[in-house]
Amino acid sequence: KVQAMLAIDESDVIVFIVDGKEEITSNDLKVREMLLKTNKKVILAVNKLDNKQMLDEIYRFYELGFDNIIPLSAAHNRGFEDLLEEITKDFHENEEIDEDILKFCIIGRPNVGKSSLINALLNEERVIVSNNAGTTRDAIDTVMKYNGNEYIAIDTAGMRKKGKIYENIEKYSLIRSLKAIERSNVCVIVINAEEGIIEHDKHIAGYALESGKAMVLVVNKWDTVENKNTKEYEKLVRSEFQFLSYAPIVYLSALTKKRIHTLMPEVLKVAENIKREIKTSVLNEVITDAYTLNLPPSYKGKRLKIYFTNQSGTKPPKFTFHVNNKGLVHFSYERYLENKIRENFDFEGTPIVLQFKNRGEE
Ligand code: GDP
Repeated sequence: KVQAMLAIDESDVIVFIVDGKEEITSNDLKVREMLLKTNKKVILAVNKLDNKQMLDEIYRFYELGFDNIIPLSAAHNRGFEDLLEEITKDFHENEEIDEDILKFCIIGRPNVGKSSLINALLNEERVIVSNNAGTTRDAIDTVMKYNGNEYIAIDTAGMRKKGKIYENIEKYSLIRSLKAIERSNVCVIVINAEEGIIEHDKHIAGYALESGKAMVLVVNKWDTVENKNTKEYEKLVRSEFQFLSYAPIVYLSALTKKRIHTLMPEVLKVAENIKREIKTSVLNEVITDAYTLNLPPSYKGKRLKIYFTNQSGTKPPKFTFHVNNKGLVHFSYERYLENKIRENFDFEGTPIVLQFKNRGEE
């Protein structure tokens, strides 16, 4: 029941499925009880109505008190279009992120110190402008001022009031992270130096990575670490988060506030880097040098040629390589090119995308 309630809470639309071949069961009635208490849109899907004659069965289910009723036949794959249309009918386009104000989210598994970090950050800067809690259910947006500019910190830990049980279910912690990431320009991923890195940390980091957003990694509770060798710790972090090789790492303690001040400069830096645009001439110089320095291996007598490279996008930066045959691009060579770009330009903390196109390809 707790799981169902959490799921209801996380959703905008709820699809309640009943068995059209059966009478209404006591379990159906229990679910109905729960759903009538929410003010969310509920669609009642009556399943197993496999043929036309059976469609009339839906009328029996009006008794449950929901107006949106859709007949379904999962076995025959019928009714899903109607269902999908009903589900998405009132959806709005994703609200655009306000480009003028930088938003960063603080994400991480429970107990890594997200709330403490936000509080420390805000106290440090002493400039809470407003705290518009309740604008979204999933996170609290705090407007803060730093060096005279306004930023929005999205705090996923603000859900604490819902109780520990909510916080501790990994699935919901992930969903919440995902939503916060979507609304942000920069993701601050917090890990706990006291407990080390576990799967849940990697899942959250993975979401941030897939989102294509800029990233900063915070190793919190640094006060608890005896051997404060950041080089060594970095090795560990890089080996655990293999795909996060480009995110800057900040070591701090939200509790003692030590090195708290090192976080915002990194956030601002990666936010700049993800917007960075490279002049085509300079880019081509770098790529040509990289190419001649280390020719791609030939395959069956054919070798990859790069005619021309340009930056075709930002946020994240995207580079398009115009080549003789993109089938000749080997994964390791692609990585080599990415490394060369990173060596020559500051893309710390931002993913970059490499795209290869054959001649004449749109
Ligand atoms: P959240 O669940 O990620 O928001 O984590 P909290 O901010 O609630 O912190 C969880 C626990 O870790 C609390 O008991 C904090 O006092 C403690 N904590 C947070 N940051 C630090 C830190 O830098 N050092 C130490 N030693 N404890 C911390």
